[in-house]
Amino acid sequence: MHRAGNDYRQQGGPSPGLEKLLKMLPDKSKDFNGTEFGQAVGIAYFGKRVDAGVMRNRAQQLSTAPPEQQCEIAMVMAEAIESTAPDRDKYFQTDEKTRDLVFNGSKWRSGWIFLMGNSDHSEPAQRFRQRNFLVFAQNGAKLKDVIDLGPRETAAVYFLQIMVRYAMIWGGISPGDDHEMAHFLEKDMSGVVVAHGKLTPVEELLLVGLMKMGAPAVVPNDYPWDFGRYVRVEGTDRIVEAATKFPNLRVKEIQGKIIELPGFCNPANTKAEFNVETTIGGVDSFFILRPGNVEDGIVIPENNDLTDCGTVGIVIEIGDKRLDLSTSEYIEGIALRGISTITGLRAERSKEGEFLIHCAKGVKPEVSIIAQALQKWIPYQFPYIEKVFVKILIGEDAKKERLSAQEFQTERKKIIENESDDTVKYFHYCIECQPFSKVHVCIITPNRPPMCGRDRFQVKAAALFGASWHPWKRRELEGVEMRGAIEVGDAIDVNYGEYHTVDEAIEKLSPGHIKRVKLHGLREYPHTSCGCFQFLAFWIKSLDGIGIMERDYRGEAPEGITWDMLANAAGGKQTPGITGVSRNYLRSKRFMQGEGGLEAVRWVSPRAFEAIKGLLPHPDKVRVGE
Ligand code: SF4
Repeated sequence: MHRAGNDYRQQGGPSPGLEKLLKMLPDKSKDFNGTEFGQAVGIAYFGKRVDAGVMRNRAQQLSTAPPEQQCEIAMVMAEAIESTAPDRDKYFQTDEKTRDLVFNGSKWRSGWIFLMGNSDHSEPAQRFRQRNFLVFAQNGAKLKDVIDLGPRETAAVYFLQIMVRYAMIWGGISPGDDHEMAHFLEKDMSGVVVAHGKLTPVEELLLVGLMKMGAPAVVPNDYPWDFGRYVRVEGTDRIVEAATKFPNLRVKEIQGKIIELPGFCNPANTKAEFNVETTIGGVDSFFILRPGNVEDGIVIPENNDLTDCGTVGIVIEIGDKRLDLSTSEYIEGIALRGISTITGLRAERSKEGEFLIHCAKGVKPEVSIIAQALQKWIPYQFPYIEKVFVKILIGEDAKKERLSAQEFQTERKKIIENESDDTVKYFHYCIECQPFSKVHVCIITPNRPPMCGRDRFQVKAAALFGASWHPWKRRELEGVEMRGAIEVGDAIDVNYGEYHTVDEAIEKLSPGHIKRVKLHGLREYPHTSCGCFQFLAFWIKSLDGIGIMERDYRGEAPEGITWDMLANAAGGKQTPGITGVSRNYLRSKRFMQGEGGLEAVRWVSPRAFEAIKGLLPHPDKVRVGE
């Protein structure tokens, strides 16, 4: 849905932004200097450098597509255009500079602000600096203490280059996996874009690109579209107020409560590489998080230095009645990362079951610091969680508790394995993808894990305890959480996975667009699809069965079906005969149960085959694409 604006926006005509970029596109782009990623944006989207011919073709194919589909190629073209600008080195931030910005920006500052557009940014720049933000600006040459990204309407690409390198270097996200990259950046990047004043059509398109890659935005009242993660306000006071409320920033305000990590913690450290000098822990050591009848608190041994402690045990108990056993395993994994936010420490559990804390040269692992980090990190990740109690044990005390910790973890594993759609009281929903897939509602159950490949407990934990990302939702959904619980109740059809309560929820959350959904069905009322699906399942009429195609597959399925055809038909809607699925759902015992399950599969692309090959009841009936 487009808001009032220029004609092309209302009529879906050729985009003037894309047309202008096409005119400016050089025949050959160049690598930027001082970076491992010579063309970071192209590499982030496509996994490799993109040549001008490919860009032109893609842009021409998308000339009348909605902006959320055009924005990626627009960004890649903007990078190519800037790469040939004679003054590009003035605005490009080298890897070394980016490392400084990332650490300074996310550790010592409230976050990064990018002031976009050609207006005079001096007033908001000053106000954001006063609030301790690192400020980048288009047209920022004359501004004090601001990183100028240049005067051109393609300047936003320099900010995106920083974002995607943050994701690829610190987030460990693979080049080309732009969906995962966007989810990582939504969550972990402490940056906000402010569209300040009137934007040109090129700038509008690039702004959508920044939003789609995870940056929340403050936009003016005439922002032409009703999608993206944004707040619509004007005037410096309101802009500053709105931008500083986004919860991806390092200092968060949740329901009037300020949540801040201690100064010695930095989320960027969790991916930082260092040479390990000493390692503490081993097979006798353990790290556990479980529900408990506790209040906030810390209990630590007298000896504050873990260096020679031999065995270490960390027990975190959560005195929040909403925490169940199965969700505690997921939160335990996230909690472990809290230790790695401390500079020079990295915690891990090896495959052999050892709990280890690695230390960089000269870093003393202090018990009190670790306990404080854990106690703040957990509510930093799950803002509504209550009562976090951390106990650290060393030596014989740790050894004594180890057995009961292990027994608890084994028992919990069994409980999780036995969960199914029939045994749980609640399913969960997620509408995080609605900013770009407007009627999409993910319903997440033990037997239908999220199509984007996320752990289902990530959604469940966020539904129970909130999460530190995604401030935007549609106005019709004010007051509705981005993820939540749905009481299962009576089924309309267990086989197809249709439930009264799920239908009611999806109608409210879509809102009003989707009235029924069959969680394990395909031909009628299938699950809606966003754009993050790992695979698409689709009905092949001529074979009277199911096809499964992996993301970006370049071959053809029977009937000449291609990935683009399927993805365009499914994206952002409910399309009978096509639905998004994840690898985990392909392996679910309820995969498309209503349509005959794996028995009804007739064609698969190679990666889909890899995912299910040991599970197919009749592999001889399944054709595998090339
Ligand atoms: S695909 Fe579904 S579960 Fe994954 S982020 Fe989008 S809405 Fe949430």
